[in-house]
Amino acid sequence: MTKILFAASECVPFIKTGGLADVIGSLPQALMKDNLADVRVILPLYDEIPLEWQNKMEKKTSFKVEVGWRTHEAILYTLENDGILYYFIKNDFYFSRRGVYGYYDDGERFVFFSQAIIEGLPLLDFDADVLHAHDWQTGLAVAFANIYLPASRLKTVFTIHNIKYQGLLSHDSFDNLFNLSREHFNGLEWNGMLNCMKAAIFHADKITTVSPTYAEEIRQPYYSEGLDSILHEREGDLSGVINGINLEDYHPMKDPYIHVNYKSSRVKKKENKEALQAELGLPVNGDIPMYIAISRLVEQKGFHLLERVLDEFLQEDIQVVILGTGDYEFEHSFSHIAIRNSTKMHMLLQFNEGQARKLYASADFFLMPSKFEPCGLSQLIALQYKTVPIVRETGGLKDTVQAFNAETGEGNGFSFANYNAHELLSILRYSLDVFHDSSLWKKLMKNVNKSSFSWSESAKAYTNIYKSLTTLEDRE
Ligand code: ADP
Repeated sequence: MTKILFAASECVPFIKTGGLADVIGSLPQALMKDNLADVRVILPLYDEIPLEWQNKMEKKTSFKVEVGWRTHEAILYTLENDGILYYFIKNDFYFSRRGVYGYYDDGERFVFFSQAIIEGLPLLDFDADVLHAHDWQTGLAVAFANIYLPASRLKTVFTIHNIKYQGLLSHDSFDNLFNLSREHFNGLEWNGMLNCMKAAIFHADKITTVSPTYAEEIRQPYYSEGLDSILHEREGDLSGVINGINLEDYHPMKDPYIHVNYKSSRVKKKENKEALQAELGLPVNGDIPMYIAISRLVEQKGFHLLERVLDEFLQEDIQVVILGTGDYEFEHSFSHIAIRNSTKMHMLLQFNEGQARKLYASADFFLMPSKFEPCGLSQLIALQYKTVPIVRETGGLKDTVQAFNAETGEGNGFSFANYNAHELLSILRYSLDVFHDSSLWKKLMKNVNKSSFSWSESAKAYTNIYKSLTTLEDRE
C-alpha cells in the first residue's frame, strides 16, 4: 500500500482554527478505512493543544534543525488516535505561545517546521512514498524535499486550501533563515518576496485544490491572489478534488452537544431551536425562521454584503444568530446590528465547537455568501444537520449547493451569482417565501435530506493521484 505522510498546521481533534483542521482530521481515516493508502500525519506541537492530548503523547527522540545561522532542537512525539499515527514536532521557542497563528514571525515558525519535517523523515520509522503537504505552512517542506533529496523516490503533493494565505517572507530572509545556495532563490521568490505557497507550487510533483470550480478560478487573476501565471505553468499537474466531511462526527443523531438528537424530524429541529432561543434570550417560538452564520469574520465570507442588507432583512419576522471571531470591523458592525435588533438577532463573538453544533442543529438557513470559497465545509455540515445553505455561486459552494427551482422542485439550497448585496437580499427574501410555502418547503427538504458529502469518492481521487506518482518509479 502506498505510504503517505500528511504534513499540516492543524488537525481535529487536537487543534482547529478552520476547515483545514476538519480535512486533516478526516481524510487520512477515509484513506485508511478503505485500504486506499497507509497514512500518517505530522503536526506542530502547540502549547494550545489540550493537555488531555499532550499527556497521551510519547516522546520518541530529538534532533537538531538549522534555521539560517541558528540551531534549534526539535523533539519528536507520537500519538495514536482513531487508527492513525500522528507525529508532533515540539519546539518551545516557536510553538509555546497562545493561539495558533498571528505572530510577527509566523513565516519563520513554519520555515522551522518545514525544515524539521524533512530532517525528521529518517527518524519516523515510516518510509513514505509521498509527502502530502497542505497550505503555505508546510509548502516549504515540499520545496526542501525537492532540493535536499533529489535522488530520493519521495514524491510530493501540495494541496491549496486557500490561495489567499501564501506565507510571505522578506527576500533577505533567504540569507537569514535558509541554508540554500543562490540557485534556489528563484523557486522561492515571487514579486519581490519569498512566498511559501509559490515555492510549493513550483516544486510539487502534483498540485491539488479543494474543489473543481476553485481549480478553474485560481487560474484567473480575480481569484488567484497574484499566482495565476505560475499556476498556468503548472496546470498540467493541477486538479480539484472536492472535500468531504466526517459523517460519523457531524451527525445530528449522535451529536453529544445538541439539545435533542434527530435524523430529519422538523419537530425535533424546532425543539433544538427553542432551546437555543431560550439560551440566547431571543423570543421562544419554533415557527420563526432562523438564519445563522458560523464563520471566521473576514471579507472572504461575504460579510460586507450581509452588513449592507441585514438591518433591512431584519424587518421581517425572522431571527439571526452569528457565531464567529475575526476582523474588528465585522465584530463591531455585527455586534451593533445585533444591539439595534436585540429581539431578533444575537451575536456570539466566540470560537466554540459546542455552540457551533447547537446552531447547526437549530437553524433553518445557513448564510455563506462568500466572495470566494475554495471548498467550504460549513455548508456541507449545515446540510448534514438539515439546515438550508444560502451561498454565492463560487468555488466549492458552486460544486455542492444547487439553487432551488420552484418549477422543477430541484435544488438543495439557495444561491446567487454576483457579489452584490441586493442579489443577496432578494435571495434571502425568496428563501423566506419558500419557507412559508409548505409544499415548496417539503420539496426542498427532500433534496436537503438526500444531500450527503462523505469522503469516499474524493479519497479515491487522491489515491489515483498518489498512484500516478508512485507507479512511475515503483520500487516494489
Ligand atoms: P474556513 O476553513 O475558510 O474557515 P470552512 O467552511 O471550510 O471555512 O470551515 C470552517 C470550519 O470551522 C467549520 O467546521 C465551522 O463549523 C468551523 N467554525 C468556524 N467558525 C467557528 C466558530 N466561531 N466556532 C466554532 N466553529 C467554527
